[in-house]
Formats: sequence, structure tokens, C-alpha cells
Amino acid sequence: MNKTNIGKKIHVSAADIPDEGLNLSFENLERVLIDMEGCRSLGPVSGQLSFRKVGNKIHLHGRVVARVGLCCDRCLEEYTQDISTSFFYLLCPRPDFNREIPKEMALESEDMEVYWYEDGEIHCEDIFREQILLELPFRNLCSEVCKGLCPGCGVNLNKQGCVCKQDVPDGPFAVLRNLRISGS
Ligand SMILES: [Zn+2]
Ligand SMILES: [Zn+2]
Repeated sequence: MNKTNIGKKIHVSAADIPDEGLNLSFENLERVLIDMEGCRSLGPVSGQLSFRKVGNKIHLHGRVVARVGLCCDRCLEEYTQDISTSFFYLLCPRPDFNREIPKEMALESEDMEVYWYEDGEIHCEDIFREQILLELPFRNLCSEVCKGLCPGCGVNLNKQGCVCKQDVPDGPFAVLRNLRISGS
């Protein structure tokens, strides 16, 4: 079964996944970025999800593509990052809180990404959001060689030279030089 969903909030009911599987395409997912601080959508966000029943479990293969604007931690300028990532989840119904996760499931989920769904509903946007978050860098840098802002005058050193250099005290050696001058 193939479906395209445009602009709708999408939940998939585990019970509705047919035996032959379910393939969904998503367009206009920009809203999944709305709550991400410092991450702005710069283009269409799209994705695909393929659900397959395997025994009593559901395998989910997916992909998400986005272009986002991030704020550089050093120079505070916005820069563009393209995200294009594929992922795999084992989908499992969330056990009751007072029930332990079955041992065989705990073992199987150790080296796999597990999405625990509740009330039989899989929230597709949550999955896309999580995958985009995983692709975002720990530190935002517009470039490895970003020079950042001058702590003295605040100019973006990637764009222009510092204009305050001559006013900054000369550091520890200034004292030595003055001593030498006064001693000579
Ligand atoms: Zn930068
Ligand atoms: Zn400066």
C-alpha cells in the first residue's frame, strides 16, 4: 500500500498496517522544526516511512530530508545545513509502567533504535523530529575555521579585520617591556 500525505498531522495505527506493509510519503513537514530552538527550516522537509510486520513486531525503515538554518556558536551568523538521513526502528507497544520489558525484547532492542508507541498509535512527526535532532551537531559551527567574534570590538573576524587591536593592552609582556625601558 502506498500513500502520500500532504500537510496533515499523521498518526498510524499499528492495527491498520496491512500484512503486505505500508509505505507513506510525507511533504511539507516543516512544522516538525517549530519547537527546535535555533534551528529554522530553510526549505521543504520531506520524508518516507515503510512499515513491515515481522512476526508480532513492526519494522520501520525511513528517511528524512531537510535544509535547516543554524546559528554558529562562534560568530552568531546563521548558516545552512542539509540533512538527509535514513533510519531504522523496531516499533514496540509500550509496556505498562509496572510491567517489565520482556527479556527477549530487551535483548533485541539493545543494538536497535526502539520506538515505544502508546495506545496503538505511531506518531510519525515525532519520529522525523527525533531523527533531525540526531543529525544536528553538538556544537554549531559555520565552518571548522570560523574565527568568531573579536572579544574586544565584536566584529565578525570572518568578514573583516579587527579594528580594536591597537587599543587592547599588550598582555603579560607589556609589563616586562616597561620595566626594561625604565631600567635603561
Ligand atoms: Zn561562525
Ligand atoms: Zn577587535
